[in-house]
Amino acid sequence: MNQLTASDCLCRQVVRVLEEGRPGHAAAQPLFAVFRESVDNGVFVGLVTAHNIMQHPDWIFADLTEHREFLFIAPNIGVRRALKIMDQHGVDALPVLDQQLFVGVVTRQSILEMLLQREHLLLMESRQLKKMLDVEHEQVVSWSEKLARLHGASCSLLSVFSVLAHTSVQDDLLQTGIESLSKLLEARYGAIGILDESGALKHFVYTGISPEQAQSIGQFPQGKGFLGVVIQENISLRLDDMSKDLHNIDFPAHHPSMKTLLAVPISHHGRVYGQVYLSDKEGGESFSKNDEELALSFACSLSLVLDNARKMEEVKQARQSLDYMAHFDALTDLPNRTLFKDRAQQAISHAQRNGGMVGILFLDLDNFKVVNDTIGHTLGDALLKRVADRISDCLRDGDTVARLGGDEFIVLLPDISDIQDAANVASKILESLTPPLNIDQHEVFVSISIGISIYPNNSKNMDGLLADADGAMYHAKKLGKNNYQFFTPEMNRSAQNYMKFEKHLRRALEQNELVLYYQPQVDIETGLIIGVEALIRWFSPELGMVGPEDFIPLAEETGLIVPIGAWVLKTACTQARFWQQNGLPIRVAVNLSSRQFHQVQNQQQSRHLLLDAVLNALDETGLPPDLLELEITEGILMQHLETTMEILNTLKSIGVRLSVDDFGTGYSSLSYLKRFPIDGIKIDKSFVNDITTDPSDKAIVAAITVMAQQLKLEVVAEGVETAEQLDFLRELRCQYVQGYYFSKPRPADEFLLLLQQGKLPFS
Ligand code: C2E
Ligand code: MG
Ligand code: MG
Repeated sequence: MNQLTASDCLCRQVVRVLEEGRPGHAAAQPLFAVFRESVDNGVFVGLVTAHNIMQHPDWIFADLTEHREFLFIAPNIGVRRALKIMDQHGVDALPVLDQQLFVGVVTRQSILEMLLQREHLLLMESRQLKKMLDVEHEQVVSWSEKLARLHGASCSLLSVFSVLAHTSVQDDLLQTGIESLSKLLEARYGAIGILDESGALKHFVYTGISPEQAQSIGQFPQGKGFLGVVIQENISLRLDDMSKDLHNIDFPAHHPSMKTLLAVPISHHGRVYGQVYLSDKEGGESFSKNDEELALSFACSLSLVLDNARKMEEVKQARQSLDYMAHFDALTDLPNRTLFKDRAQQAISHAQRNGGMVGILFLDLDNFKVVNDTIGHTLGDALLKRVADRISDCLRDGDTVARLGGDEFIVLLPDISDIQDAANVASKILESLTPPLNIDQHEVFVSISIGISIYPNNSKNMDGLLADADGAMYHAKKLGKNNYQFFTPEMNRSAQNYMKFEKHLRRALEQNELVLYYQPQVDIETGLIIGVEALIRWFSPELGMVGPEDFIPLAEETGLIVPIGAWVLKTACTQARFWQQNGLPIRVAVNLSSRQFHQVQNQQQSRHLLLDAVLNALDETGLPPDLLELEITEGILMQHLETTMEILNTLKSIGVRLSVDDFGTGYSSLSYLKRFPIDGIKIDKSFVNDITTDPSDKAIVAAITVMAQQLKLEVVAEGVETAEQLDFLRELRCQYVQGYYFSKPRPADEFLLLLQQGKLPFS
């Protein structure tokens, strides 16, 4: 407030008088302003107080003013100065003149009154101000409280942001996020919905709504209404009144009624993970652009986390599958060699510390290669899976079965108390494989050979134990398969030999170590050579002469029988063609093995390797087909009737002769043979061997001969060694014979000499 001046404090009780006037009865303490000529606009000549009048009651105003000092002050003089002038001149009142014009009079009293009045006014004003201050203070307090709350909310939102940047999405984190965001944007309702790959709700957190309501929202069809728009079009929505929007669909039952909406997508690089939505601001107003931006930045952080989580999940899965591939066999899902070795190593270390025992079983399916080639690789794989299941079923929880590849399995018994425990498991496995396996409507019989090694009885380290079990397994094979054997040091040697053997055999073909020997077949009546059987020999520089019975099974198992068989056919045909061209036409018999017979080159083409080999041999050598005879065993006839029949018919249509070797040792009856395009049978040498001593063998040979003749089948008796046997056979009317009695199998050049003689010496 400005400082008080004289003009502010004019006294109201001033009486204007003319100088010639005479004071009458003056009112209590009156003041007289004296003028010359006019009281209104005359010249002011002085001020007279009641006190002056009382001193000279008979004077006129002019007298009274004349004897007094002419004092006045300007209107803008401050009141303090005015009081000071009054003090100096000993007066209580002063006229106020502005440029000689009378303005009024200030008195001590009027100044005092004015000061009082002024003080009162100030007081009033200050009170007013205080009141206003109080209100303002209250407002400030409430604002600051609100700010603090907002600050708290934004802090926790910030902390959610920063946590999100480092972790995966968890419901509690999302919960804090949506609560903070709703608080910050003063939304009554808020929710975050995150969808999975299929579009179903994976995470749903909310605030401001009850769990029942949330449940109804959760059941709300995803992808519909506003939220559907947000997800599908990857856009934000800000609505003042949802009910008026064209995307509005009826809320489900129990859904809280809502008016305003702010919904933003949680998306990253165009991929939408879900949405954040808020509804109904506390104050009733709409969501602002700022609100939207804040919600979007929250959603953006969330999307980064979700995207990161997705990538981490992909990395995890990739790692898992890599890890899986490194440790498991893809076909059977069993542990592979690596994982097995890991576990075996642990088991051995554990046994070492605790003085325990570990058993290792090495398993190899018998004749799997034959089975696999016969039923095809797809069914072969299915068979391996079934075998894996059966083996697994025989084991306890802590045991491990692994597949080493092919048809080899290995079992770890990490904690046995006796070697008998391992034997029990082995026989359980053998037994479990006795019933046939049903593979794609085929009944397949399989058996398995098992080798067992034991820690600490055999090798002390894992690789040694594996090699021991492997050696024992080979031994089990040699003992006729379908059995188990414990490892002994001797086995080690034989297993090593076997492996060496295989290595050498692989080289035998290229190194020309294989040779055909020829054994004549003779007409029992005339003594003429009517045919010849080609029999293979292997002259190995390392192993010496090896007979077919010692290496044909290995060749079958390793698949080497296919190229070897083709070589035999070609060589035999070349030889026979050579004899024919030299005027000695003679039919040559070639032995076929089961695997060779059923080997298919390619499932789709169903091209038969054997047929190929036969046709090639005939084509390339020019041998007339009727000079080639193929010997097949009863076993071959019994397998895969349909394909066997097809192959035989094809061979027959080419003009090749077919005979059944080792007849009588298998299961086929002569009547059964009728069904096949067979030209002849060869009675197995075991019958011939005892024909002179064993009446039943004689009876069998007799029966076979008679029936074969009725069926118009040629009969060759094998293994004739003595004249007595020959006599018996002649008596039984057997047509043809073969055996040492006439000639052992001989190399081609030696056999040529026999041929040139035409007739053998016996007759
Ligand atoms: P196989 O077809 O029954 O051949 C007859 C076997 O009996 C031959 O043995 C022959 O030398 C032998 N043998 C012949 N006469 C007598 C005899 O009077 N007394 C005795 N004790 N034995 C006699 P080898 O040559 O050792 O052949 C054994 C088996 O090996 C053959 O039995 C045949 O199944 C198989 N084999 C031989 N060569 C081949 C071949 O090129 N391919 C195939 N897949 N198997 C072959
Ligand atoms: Mg034969
Ligand atoms: Mg035979």
